[in-house]
This record gives sequence, C-alpha cells and structure tokens, in this order.
Amino acid sequence: MNRNPVLPSLTLSTEPKALRSVDLLVSQTYSGHGFLALDALPRVALEAAVCAADDGFSWAVNTFFDGVVGGEPRLKMNLGLKGQMHLLCQRCMQPCLVEIDESRQFVFLANEALADAFPMENDALEPLVMSAQFDLLGTIEDEILLSLPLIPKHPEGVCQPAALGSGADDSMHQGETIKKPDNPFNILKNMKKKE
Ligand SMILES: [Zn+2]
Repeated sequence: MNRNPVLPSLTLSTEPKALRSVDLLVSQTYSGHGFLALDALPRVALEAAVCAADDGFSWAVNTFFDGVVGGEPRLKMNLGLKGQMHLLCQRCMQPCLVEIDESRQFVFLANEALADAFPMENDALEPLVMSAQFDLLGTIEDEILLSLPLIPKHPEGVCQPAALGSGADDSMHQGETIKKPDNPFNILKNMKKKE
C-alpha cells in the first residue's frame, strides 16, 4: 500500500507578509515561487551597502512528505534562492556586487528539542521546527545571510584605486598622527551625489 499518497499542493502566496506565517500542520504540501526585494527582507537589507534596482532574491519552495522506515512520514522542504545584492567591499570600502545561487533541503521536526538533537550530517538536511505559523520569510532571510561572504571583496584588481589611497597621497599626510579611514557612509553619500 502506498504510504505516501500525493497530497493536494497549496500554492504559496508571493506576499512577504503571508510568508511570515505558513500553516504546516495541515495535511497538505506547498509549492510556490516569487521575488523579494531588499525592503521585504529587513535583516538582509541591514547588510546592504547600497540598493540597486535589480537587487533582491528569487525564491522557490516546495514541501513534501518523505517516508521513514518504521515511522511517520516526515515533512521536508526544498528551498532555492537566487539573487544579488551590494555589500561593502572590505578592501576599498566601495559597494561590490554579491550573487548567490543556493539550494537547501530542510526537515521539519515536532519541537525545538528534536530539532536541536537532529544529527547534522554534512549539512545536507537542516532541521526546522514544525509550526502552524512557520516563518518562511525568516528562514529565507537566514539562508541568504548564511550564503553571503563573511568578508565581501571585489575580485582582485577591481577595487577603486582612489579609495585605496596612493603612495603620494600618504606622503602628504605624514605629519598627521593617524590617518582615519573614510567613513563608508560618507563615501556612499558622495557616490549618490555624483549619480
Ligand atoms: Zn573593492
């Protein structure tokens, strides 16, 4: 007998607000895809150096029940994320484009204790807690943040030479005790003025 009948699949809303609360306790699966601009991702937006028109992330989600030998089928979720944003290059302190293209798989467990105890085998399957108000948007934000480089940098040789400071410029300032690095926010302000 088929223990994993194909259940009707609900289409997820593309509204950021609706993605904050998805009822996983219903005996149905979900699928959906959409695009989230940075203003819909407040924790990700905090990391942005500037926000360009194309910045944001496409997401695709589907959930399914997976059989477990001798147990109840487990709810799992595939999450695909693809998109871009601008972080502050830690070499020249100018915005640099960062692109991500990730796919993850999650398993939903009944409670926090089970999720904490879930064996993390090569990170292939990440545990989440089952909920009637599952915060899918928050999970999308978490995965974007985890995918971003810890120390974002332009590719070698692409940094703005002006911001790096030339040798001649340094010698002119030798009388000063400490040369403060330019405040990145002032650099951004100046960039915006030039546009
Ligand atoms: Zn740079």
